Amino acid sequence: MSDFSKYIRVIPNFPTQGVSFKDISPLLGNGVAFNAAIDVFANRFKSEMIDVIVGIDARGFILGAALAHRLDIGFVPIRKSGKLPFDCYEVTYNLEYGTDTLAIHQDAFPRGSRVLICDDVLATGGTLSASIELVNQLEAEIIGVALLLELTEFEGRKKVTEVPIFSLVEY
Ligand code: AMP
Repeated sequence: MSDFSKYIRVIPNFPTQGVSFKDISPLLGNGVAFNAAIDVFANRFKSEMIDVIVGIDARGFILGAALAHRLDIGFVPIRKSGKLPFDCYEVTYNLEYGTDTLAIHQDAFPRGSRVLICDDVLATGGTLSASIELVNQLEAEIIGVALLLELTEFEGRKKVTEVPIFSLVEY
């Protein structure tokens, strides 16, 4: 299977007017498609000696945990502020209106770990940039970013020049 776009449902004006929401539920709900997507990621990264997958809150958890399981490695969540129970690093970044804060446990993985970051959608790149900043605070080596979908109109890739981005579908 190579065309994953048919498993991504577009919902106009969600969660707010003017936003075209890309819903990955059909892909996750289809065992063949979900498995095939994880296969593509695993084949791309299996020879990269990744130590740990970092998944971004919240849909990055689903993809990242499945990929970590497939690669037989650990999974670490980046969560919204206030959710992780132990000592955290935090990064605050700008949204279109207001700010958001992401956090990671300070002891999530050893310094020098080879990390792959995983999320569902890249739009402006704000979330991914903040996540990269967090992982850098743990002095890891970021090998790449695995995404289901890249919304090219927002040019998020331009914000993230230092890390290779691999996405299954471009919109
Ligand atoms: P951004 O920081 O603008 O790159 O947004 C990326 C984050 O917001 C990802 O974690 C996505 O889950 C979510 N997101 C942003 N835009 C969309 C969209 N149009 N459809 C679905 N999810 C989106």
